[in-house]
Amino acid sequence: MVSINTVTGKLNINDLGCTLVHEHLLLRSEVVTFQFPHLYDEDVIYKKAVEGANAVKSQGVKTICDPTVVGMGRDVRFLERVSNETDMQIVTATGIYSFTDIPYYFQNREIDHMAEAFIHDIEKGIQNTNIKAGFLKCSADAPGLTPDLEKVFRAVARAHKSTGVPIMTHSHPETENGLNQLAIFEEEGVNLKSVMIGHTGDSTDLNYIHKILDKGAYIGMDRFGQGPLPAAKRNEVLLQLLKEGLEKRIFLSQDYCCNIDWYTQESIDEIIPGWSIRFLIDEILPQLREEGVTDQQIHTMMYENVQNWFSGI
Ligand SMILES: [Zn+2]
Repeated sequence: MVSINTVTGKLNINDLGCTLVHEHLLLRSEVVTFQFPHLYDEDVIYKKAVEGANAVKSQGVKTICDPTVVGMGRDVRFLERVSNETDMQIVTATGIYSFTDIPYYFQNREIDHMAEAFIHDIEKGIQNTNIKAGFLKCSADAPGLTPDLEKVFRAVARAHKSTGVPIMTHSHPETENGLNQLAIFEEEGVNLKSVMIGHTGDSTDLNYIHKILDKGAYIGMDRFGQGPLPAAKRNEVLLQLLKEGLEKRIFLSQDYCCNIDWYTQESIDEIIPGWSIRFLIDEILPQLREEGVTDQQIHTMMYENVQNWFSGI
C-alpha cells in the first residue's frame, strides 16, 4: 500500500512518521450523543482533543490511529477539525465495537451487507462525507465471540480482503480470545500480517502471546498507563519479547481517551490517577532505553511497524 486514508485525505505511507497506533480523541456513548446532545459541552470536548493532539505533537508524534468506530460515537468531522487545527495526521477506522450484540439492522441482514457498509466507509466516505477509513476495527471481550460479534469479524475480514486495509481488534487476553479472532480471520482467508490483536499487552502469559505471534499477527501493547496491568509488568513482558528480537511485531500505544463519557471525571481520576497521553514517550521509552532497548528497536515499533501493518508485511 503506497498511500493510506487519513481524515484530511491521502497520505504517502512514508510520511506516517512516529505513530501512536491506538488513541481516542473522542469516545462517547453513541445513543446518548444522538438523543441527549445537551449533556455535552462541545467546546470543552474539542479543546481537550486539540490539547491531546498538541501534547503528543510536541513529543514528535506525527500520526494518531484512532480506532473509534460504530458504537463509540465516531465523528469524522470532529477528527477532521482537530487534524486541521493541530496538523496531527489522524487515521480513522470503520467497524463495529461491542462486547455482545450488534444493532438490529445488522442482526437481521447478511454478513456481506455489513461488509459492504465497511467498504463504503473505506472507498467512498464515512457519514456522508468524503473522509475515508484507513483501517478496520472489531472487538470481543470477556463474553467471547458471540454470534453477533462473529458476524462483525467475518464482515471485517471480507472488507479487508476487498480493500486491503489492515485490521485492529480489541481482545480479552484473560480468556485468550485473540486466538479465536485469528481463527476466524484465517477461515476467511485474511493475511494475518495485516492483523493487530489489540490489548495483548494486558497479558503476562508469554505462552499465549507467542501463539499469536507465531500466526504472524501484530500485537498491541497498547494500554501503557491504564488497564489491568501496571506499567512495570507491561515493561517486563515487553523486555522479554524484545530480547527475543520480536520488535517487528509489536505496537506501543496507550488507548488514551482525550474524551470519554463512560465514567464521570471524578471516577476517571480515581481509577487512573494522572492518566496522560504523554505517558508512553515521557515515561516508558526512557525506562526501556535504560534497560538496554536500542533506538533502532524503538524506531521499529514507533515508525516502521505501522508502515508494514498497512502494507500487510
Ligand atoms: Zn481503544
